[in-house]
Amino acid sequence: MNALAAIIAREIAANGPMRLDRYMALALGHPQHGYYPTRDPLGAGGDFTTAPEISQMFGELVGLWLAQAWMDAGAPADFVLAEAGPGRGSLMADILRATARVEGFAPQVWLIETSPALRAVQKARLGAVNWADDLAALPNLPLIFVANEFFDALPIRQFQRGADGWQEVLVGAGLKPSLGAAFADAGLDARFGTAPGTVGEVCAPAEGFAAALGARLRAYGGAGLAVDYGDWHGTGDTLQALRAHKAANPFEAPGQADLTAHVQFGPLAAAAGQAGAFTTQGRFLERLGITARAQALAKAGAADMAADVVAAHRRLTHPEEMGNLFKVLALGPGAQNLAGFDKNEHFSPAI
Ligand code: SAH
Repeated sequence: MNALAAIIAREIAANGPMRLDRYMALALGHPQHGYYPTRDPLGAGGDFTTAPEISQMFGELVGLWLAQAWMDAGAPADFVLAEAGPGRGSLMADILRATARVEGFAPQVWLIETSPALRAVQKARLGAVNWADDLAALPNLPLIFVANEFFDALPIRQFQRGADGWQEVLVGAGLKPSLGAAFADAGLDARFGTAPGTVGEVCAPAEGFAAALGARLRAYGGAGLAVDYGDWHGTGDTLQALRAHKAANPFEAPGQADLTAHVQFGPLAAAAGQAGAFTTQGRFLERLGITARAQALAKAGAADMAADVVAAHRRLTHPEEMGNLFKVLALGPGAQNLAGFDKNEHFSPAI
């Protein structure tokens, strides 16, 4: 048993079975033993990789999308460019490089990051930018917001539908999943249906973050883009642990494996209360011109680089790779005509 498992076991012994959101928050965020505060988890030597780590093309296209959103918002001279959960800072570095020649695009850059270890990596990569623990600490200015694989790291609760109501999935003695007492909940019924055996996941921190983002976009203008794995709505147990690029048991060695759950974008959009648009990562990147960008990069580089670019293009866009599993949600008051989305993928606040 590692040190964090012992801490969790003591809390369970004292207070009874632990909610999954508490378990996930400790495993990912415990200041001394949590996953993110103690390491840089990305890349080949780490536990998982992400779109901005796979290729610069991702951040370049996202950067140009953000610059377009800034122009659509009236190109304000004073504005904040904020990224939540920026990891190694690669996405922000590519965004800033791709937008360096966009006239007037001179943002105050803010990184919303809670991990001291990753803040240090970001500082080495990006130099003098600003850090905050959450959206509330940002200056009150128009906001251009981006997040990649941020919402999937926020703690979820899980509920299982039985014949006579819902039971919460809890972490019991020996860090074994167990079920709490049955209760009735019309909200969960409406959201996930009532078929016995259904598992419903609720991510209150993600919905709270989206509500704060929506309120900021209404108050100060701007736009937001969130990319993550998941779907508009979903049911089923999606809690997943990854260690050294392999699936692991989420209840073994807490703090030593990455824990994520699929993002449900519908509840995020509803919480934000904004107009927006929703599509797959593959379609979004194709429409923004990733194929042309890949061809240009392949032509400019050596032969082995060309092979890498082709592989990265496939990884990011192919339906059997990240193309369909990953989704893109755009939000903003001026979101009627966002690049990268089809007309029928747009929605208005009342959804
Ligand atoms: N966006 C990066 C990293 C994804 S990993 C990429 O695509 O490569 C998740 C990131 O979210 C890490 O930087 C982690 O430290 C951060 N994070 C996790 N929980 C957070 C929270 N509650 N508040 C702010 N950042 C958080």
